[in-house]
Amino acid sequence: MLIQPNNHRENHLKAFIKTFGCQMNVNDSEYIAGQLVKLGYSLTEDIFESNLILLNTCCVRAKVEQKIYSLIGKIKKIKENNSNVILGICGCMAQKEKENIFKRAPYVDFIFSPSQVNNLEEITNTVKYGNKKYISCENAPEFSFNHIPVKRESKISAWIQIMRGCNNYCSYCVVPYTRGPEQSRGVSEIVSEVKILAKNKYKEMFLLGQNVNSYGNDLSQSATFSKLLELLNNINGIERIRFTTSHPKDFSFDLIKTIKKCNKICNHIHLPIQSGSNKILKMMNRKYDINYYNNIIKEIRNNIDNIAITTDAMVGFPGETEEDFMDTLRAFKEIEFDEAYTFIYSNRENAIASILPDQVPLKLKKERLWRLIELQKDISTKINKKLEGEILEVLVDKKSKKNIKNQFSGRTGTNKTVVFTGKQDLLGELVKVKIIKSSPWTLYGELI
Ligand code: SAM
Ligand code: SF4
Repeated sequence: MLIQPNNHRENHLKAFIKTFGCQMNVNDSEYIAGQLVKLGYSLTEDIFESNLILLNTCCVRAKVEQKIYSLIGKIKKIKENNSNVILGICGCMAQKEKENIFKRAPYVDFIFSPSQVNNLEEITNTVKYGNKKYISCENAPEFSFNHIPVKRESKISAWIQIMRGCNNYCSYCVVPYTRGPEQSRGVSEIVSEVKILAKNKYKEMFLLGQNVNSYGNDLSQSATFSKLLELLNNINGIERIRFTTSHPKDFSFDLIKTIKKCNKICNHIHLPIQSGSNKILKMMNRKYDINYYNNIIKEIRNNIDNIAITTDAMVGFPGETEEDFMDTLRAFKEIEFDEAYTFIYSNRENAIASILPDQVPLKLKKERLWRLIELQKDISTKINKKLEGEILEVLVDKKSKKNIKNQFSGRTGTNKTVVFTGKQDLLGELVKVKIIKSSPWTLYGELI
């Protein structure tokens, strides 16, 4: 619940940004923050002392969208108490809902797509001084962050969007409708950014895209994801390169060779399976079957030692029978993912699957999700247990969430979280940790 404050400090420009959804949104917010700071705003985590409230939204699942609309409703009270506050909505939900947001919440002042970030001055001036609403949800013709300042949350690991949008039209997904077609960022822009980050002592580069394997398909120069990885691997100073997400249909042997060859690319691949049933995969328009998926996993494991594989999967897609779901359970048992992000299918009105018959009842979807999570928990427990006694290299990236004195956490190259007792000056360092205890989600160790 939002509680009304007694007073407001309005003399200064203060911006409150709340981000929903994936890492790409987090990175978009970092650019929005950078741009706002350039315009004279300071950033605040206290919504009540802000005079600009910005929600960077997601709409992949209906629940998040409901949550965002509910927050917008609560912000109405803040605006009623302080007429200086302006409210903007950007991101996927803004691009999906467009003017509907004004209809449902007339007190929203502006709506924009993340590619309008360089227009934030014009946008906020139109609202504040022109006393008008502003909406622009189009994507810019090219995807570039050139000349846009960025205020990153971490000083160790940097999100780097290499592409935006998606051409795949999985039948359940709204992303191609909200973010538009794939747009790759130019190779030289990405390379320059990574060089600057390396100079600023960033250790880990996390490359982002909805389907990084198709990077470069829309660029005139002959750019491929593998070539980009090789270029980045040669930049001095950085220690680790990660990327997400890989679509199985585009996962090439060339990429496997590149991961094997490039010493800075982490031993972790996130490869969403979505379902283990060929019937459901076809209805999802995923463009691969389970045989194809299993073969990629085999190739990856045969060629890269000690590789962690994680996945996304969904239960309750329309028409999913118990047999189809058992196929997913079987695939999970056979493949043994290190970790899985599991979701209940959510009906999105723009996506083709929303008109499919045989929507699975929510109770059944919840039951299947629980069964899948329990199975994965057992698998992750078994995999992590085997790591007890091993010495792993960890990039220390934060104080432990539980805020226990001297407890820090970091990640292994295989993307496992390791908690251990350490010191502040280890932040950003690669250290060796001996694993003494494990849980399905976390490893606990002692600094060597
Ligand atoms: N581009 C990535 C890919 O194809 O794997 C994933 C991006 S999507 C935003 C992240 C995950 O959300 C998907 O892998 C999928 O499991 C899940 N997802 C997408 N649409 C969904 C829906 N309508 N209901 C439930 N989960 C969904
Ligand atoms: Fe959505 Fe499929 Fe594109 Fe991923 S690949 S963003 S799931 S349409």
